[in-house]
Formats: sequence, C-alpha cells, structure tokens
Amino acid sequence: MAFALWRKQIKCPNCQYEGKAQIKGSGCGLWLVFLVLFSISFLFWPLFIVAGIMFLWLLLKPADQICPKCKYVNPIPK
Ligand SMILES: [Zn+2]
Repeated sequence: MAFALWRKQIKCPNCQYEGKAQIKGSGCGLWLVFLVLFSISFLFWPLFIVAGIMFLWLLLKPADQICPKCKYVNPIPK
C-alpha cells in the first residue's frame, strides 16, 4: 500500500522469471501505526511532528518489488 502501486517489469536472476513484479505488502502495518500516532497527536501536540515525518517517510519510501514465483527480493528491473 506504499507509494508505488504500479508493478515493474522484472527479470529474476534466481528462477529466470520474466514479467510483472509482485509488490510486497509490508507497508500496511506502518500506515496503521501512523494513523494511531496521528490520533494520539490531537491529545499531545508534539506528536504531530513525529507523525508528519513518518507520513513523508511512508510516502517517499519505494515499495519492494519481488519475484512472484520464488519471492526473490532483488529482481532486475527491465
Ligand atoms: Zn524468481
């Protein structure tokens, strides 16, 4: 659920798969943490700064594109 919702064309050096990458859905939990942090920051304002930094970080960090066949984490983009 991170910033990159599109899937790259990749070539896997591990199993020779060629085609669309699979996006590793590891960002969802972090967005949940962010939402909780954001809610609490209404009660304790300095948390707004932390929530703001975390929001930017979540938005800018690239999503992990992995091989759908063997789950190899570093496939070569085409
Ligand atoms: Zn593979």
